[in-house]
Amino acid sequence: MILAERNEMITVNKLNKFFGDLHVLKDIDFNVKESEVVVLIGASGSGKSTMLRCLNFLELKNSGEIIIRGENVNPKRDNLNQVRQKVGMVFQHFNLFPHKTVLENVTEAPIQVKKMAKASAIKEGKDLLEKVGLADKENDFPSRLSGGQKQRVAIARALAMKPEIMLFDEPTSALDPELVGEVLQTMKDLAYEGMTMVVVTHEMGFAKEVADRVVYMHDGKIVETGHPKEVFDNPKEERTQRFLSSIL
Ligand code: ADP
Ligand code: MG
Repeated sequence: MILAERNEMITVNKLNKFFGDLHVLKDIDFNVKESEVVVLIGASGSGKSTMLRCLNFLELKNSGEIIIRGENVNPKRDNLNQVRQKVGMVFQHFNLFPHKTVLENVTEAPIQVKKMAKASAIKEGKDLLEKVGLADKENDFPSRLSGGQKQRVAIARALAMKPEIMLFDEPTSALDPELVGEVLQTMKDLAYEGMTMVVVTHEMGFAKEVADRVVYMHDGKIVETGHPKEVFDNPKEERTQRFLSSIL
């Protein structure tokens, strides 16, 4: 389907976020369409994590609109747990439950939050572990896994809630270089299946191969957005050029 005809999954209008006096997100306008993969780049402190956390309502905005699949979310009125089920998130530091097995990590939220029957949750959890290549690890504890395996469990755990959008916040930054590829591959598989994704990453190879759009943030604002080829090969803004030469 042509991009212009797809549903908007996320629409952000004039989003502002402050931490005390610190103005972290400044009048952000942003949208993501169905099955689109958007890669968010920018220097440390530019507001990328805060942006993702606002999209998942882990942080609450100060002003502006956040519309998820046509629903203008009002944190005071709406059930944020329900909204969060639509928007899965994967963090840099995995955040697995250390005292639960791999399979229990994946089935915990469907059973506890969605009240799914245990047997169905286990069946779906095993399918998800198979999908991320960890079927043989279901009874292991996270401490037995490599960083790349932990992150793939974290992805399976997020998928277990059947989200319609997945947010990734530097999912490979904490990994040894040789483990980055397996996590990126899992994310690529997800993208090719049509998942709508917003990914904060400095993995430019991933962005070039998978992203429909790259968004560059600087100091709480979106400075440039475009197809990865345009942004990487021919950035319009000087700040984007400087940032790209600093990371390549
Ligand atoms: P990035 O992910 O691009 O590195 P962040 O969104 O983490 O940027 O941070 C943006 C700015 O907001 C930084 O100046 C950071 O120190 C500040 N910040 C982030 N989270 C908090 C918080 N919970 N309380 C106060 N300041 C914060
Ligand atoms: Mg961050």
